[in-house]
Amino acid sequence: MSRSTNGGRSPFERLRSRFEETDLVCPKCRYDDADGRWLAETTGDRIQYRHLCPSCGYVRRRTFRLGGE
Ligand SMILES: [Zn+2]
Repeated sequence: MSRSTNGGRSPFERLRSRFEETDLVCPKCRYDDADGRWLAETTGDRIQYRHLCPSCGYVRRRTFRLGGE
């Protein structure tokens, strides 16, 4: 396991910016949480993202593994 330093952008940051641009609309109530963001928790080689819809309270979760690219 070695840390990649190409360009100074981690997989963590790439995933996060992708979410913030494209996936803040609640699939349940269609609320567009334009000011919201996915919260990230890192555990070992995984990142878990959580988004709480401020309108209906629906929680989405996504888990990604690092180093699998
Ligand atoms: Zn919602």
